[in-house]
Amino acid sequence: MTGPRLNIDLDKIYHNAHTLVELLADRGISVTGVTKATLGSREIAEVLIRAGVKAIGDSRIENIEVMRLAGLPVAMTLIRSPMLSQTDRVVMHADVSLNTELDVIRKLSHSGQKAGRIHGIILMVELGDLREGIMPGDLINTVGETLRLPNVAFKGIGTNLACRSGVSPDAEKMAQLSALAVSIEATFDLTIDIVSGGNSASLPWVLSGADVGRINELRLGESILLGCEPLHRQPIDGLHTDAITLSAEVIESKVKPSKAWGEVGQTAFGERPSGTDRGHISQSILAIGQQDTDPCGLRPPRGINVLGASSDHLILESDHCLTIGSEMTFQLNYGALVRAMTSPFVAEVVKPQCGTFNRTVEANNG
Ligand SMILES: *Cc1c(COP(=O)(O)O)cnc(C)c1O
Repeated sequence: MTGPRLNIDLDKIYHNAHTLVELLADRGISVTGVTKATLGSREIAEVLIRAGVKAIGDSRIENIEVMRLAGLPVAMTLIRSPMLSQTDRVVMHADVSLNTELDVIRKLSHSGQKAGRIHGIILMVELGDLREGIMPGDLINTVGETLRLPNVAFKGIGTNLACRSGVSPDAEKMAQLSALAVSIEATFDLTIDIVSGGNSASLPWVLSGADVGRINELRLGESILLGCEPLHRQPIDGLHTDAITLSAEVIESKVKPSKAWGEVGQTAFGERPSGTDRGHISQSILAIGQQDTDPCGLRPPRGINVLGASSDHLILESDHCLTIGSEMTFQLNYGALVRAMTSPFVAEVVKPQCGTFNRTVEANNG
């Protein structure tokens, strides 16, 4: 089989998604399955839907368009604020979007009128992570303005934590979001449909048995695909952490000094190399690099250490000599996964769910 490649095990992804859907259903929380790390893979989206997610979320309208054309039978949510320049496409293909700017919501309303469609709006609230979100003090005003616009429907509120600043979605933040929902309902005499309590980083809070208050939805990507929660990158009990792995081929294997020699400047990626002298080591090169993945996000098998990488070479130290042409398989984190999915040089080999067909996507250059 050709390398480098992502090995995607749909049974394991199904297991992860189904386990989370069931756990959260017990707490009155539904799941929006987030496909952005998979480039909006239709096959993976279908597995998530079979596993019981209520909606599919993606950050790119391009991905949503592909999934929509495939006829997926659930609501599609654009989980990044629509660009002002893309509102026609957003209204045409997404049912709901996450929003923070009235200028964008007004344009969505306008696009909705032109298309004769009603677009759902979830307003995102800033609770301290300092990525997207309306400041809590401005929320009531934004809800009021949204309610007045034609062809947009106010669906609810949400927050996103732990992405830019690593701020934890703890009981206090979640209680604050619940309280905002209650105050909107009291102010406008309505019932809020969706209170979206965040991404995979909110799982430790839910699973700790906390009172979930008004939170009734989570948007989950990493936990389903990689079995981890993003706050401390700990595996979640009962989930597979190897549903997706990355394999690459050995193209050089030699015993070499551990320390570089000669006059030393910067590396290809602008760092200063830091090799200490540990005598001679078994050093191997895999045919994969910065262009294909995030080398820092790879978890190698036991006995293997990642020493460094340039655009096309990944350098490893191993406790024994690796054979030229042999393969090494890594577990990977979210950053490494996103980049590998996006590289045209990395193929995808999909292991089907029992009872469905096998399929291989060769790399674009193949
Ligand atoms: C990426 C993203 C998610 C999913 O995050 P995971 O950590 O992968 O679960 C949810 N919501 C928003 C707004 C996102 O950008």
